Amino acid sequence: MESIFENNKVEEFKALLLASKHVVITTHHKPDADALGSSVGLHLLLMANGIASTIVTPSDFPDFLDWMETDDMPKVEQYDEKKNAQYPKQLIEDADLILCLDFSNLGRLTKIEKIVEASKAKRVVIDHHLEPNMVSDLSFWDTKAAATAELIYLLAVACGWQKDLKGKVLEVLYAGIMTDTGSFRHPSTSARVHQIAADMIGLGLDNSKVHRLIYDNNSISRLKFLGFCLSEKLIILPDLHTAYISISKEELERYQIETGDTEGVVNYALSLKGIVMAAIIIDRTEAVKLSFRSLGNFSVNDFSKRHFSGGGHKNASGGISNKTLHQTVSHFLEMLPQHKLQLEQTFQDTV
Ligand code: 5GP
Ligand code: MN
Repeated sequence: MESIFENNKVEEFKALLLASKHVVITTHHKPDADALGSSVGLHLLLMANGIASTIVTPSDFPDFLDWMETDDMPKVEQYDEKKNAQYPKQLIEDADLILCLDFSNLGRLTKIEKIVEASKAKRVVIDHHLEPNMVSDLSFWDTKAAATAELIYLLAVACGWQKDLKGKVLEVLYAGIMTDTGSFRHPSTSARVHQIAADMIGLGLDNSKVHRLIYDNNSISRLKFLGFCLSEKLIILPDLHTAYISISKEELERYQIETGDTEGVVNYALSLKGIVMAAIIIDRTEAVKLSFRSLGNFSVNDFSKRHFSGGGHKNASGGISNKTLHQTVSHFLEMLPQHKLQLEQTFQDTV
């Protein structure tokens, strides 16, 4: 696999690693398989090369990613104001190098944003999100990459760590690529992505096992919640080629929804014939969180940036609102008609 990184940047990365005593790897709030998979993958690669690091996340992550942590690594420090704040804070304060994975905007660090911002550590960004808005000493940033895990794989090759691309490393990186490409179907699924997946299988990866670990791990409440969303909560706006679902706190409690249980629900709305934009709007404890998905040229990155202080990728983005759920849905519905022409055009282009 050919390196996509400039040689001097790779050398600088290795020099930074060698010069650092306390390396922290961090990623965005509510890490998904790419965020956690690239973090664990990089941690294991560093470990194999004699460099110790600790992963600090701003929040918990879904249970279906528990398998990513291995016994021989320090446990992922999940920052939690009530249960686990002091040690993760200390780790960040003591760090001389912070590796920021799968985000390009410090705000995505939520509760640990200010701690990372105040840190004097050198900062390296490895990411594939649009419009980076964050200062760093070194960055491996490629919006053409389908996943941060893809960049970690390529970086490992560029660093000469091929021998360490095995076992768990392959599993966690493959999980990141598989989920961020929607199981190899989004337009981000380049020839390079398939080449990397093929190389991984050649190196001994059990790809079917990773698929099972991620997708065949549903709780019954999660499946019932999905059924409830589709049968009772899905609203279709045919003229705007949009479908959305809104979920109240009470509904989350009724189905005992945990972190990660709502992931993927929005894709069902997008799978409807004639729909080019889908949203799920959820009343979380901290704020109302929005997830958007789209087809073709309709950019939900622009949409969420403009109306919901968010961002992400062209066809998958998220945003946030401090209004009530009801007011957020109203705002969404008021903003949508401004985009009617683009939605109609995208529909015409995708039929
Ligand atoms: P999801 O809907 O799966 O939570 O997120 C879709 C994409 O948008 C991911 O790449 C995620 O990192 C990004 N994203 C989600 N929420 C936000 C947000 O509030 N702000 C920004 N800038 N990106 C977000
Ligand atoms: Mn990602």
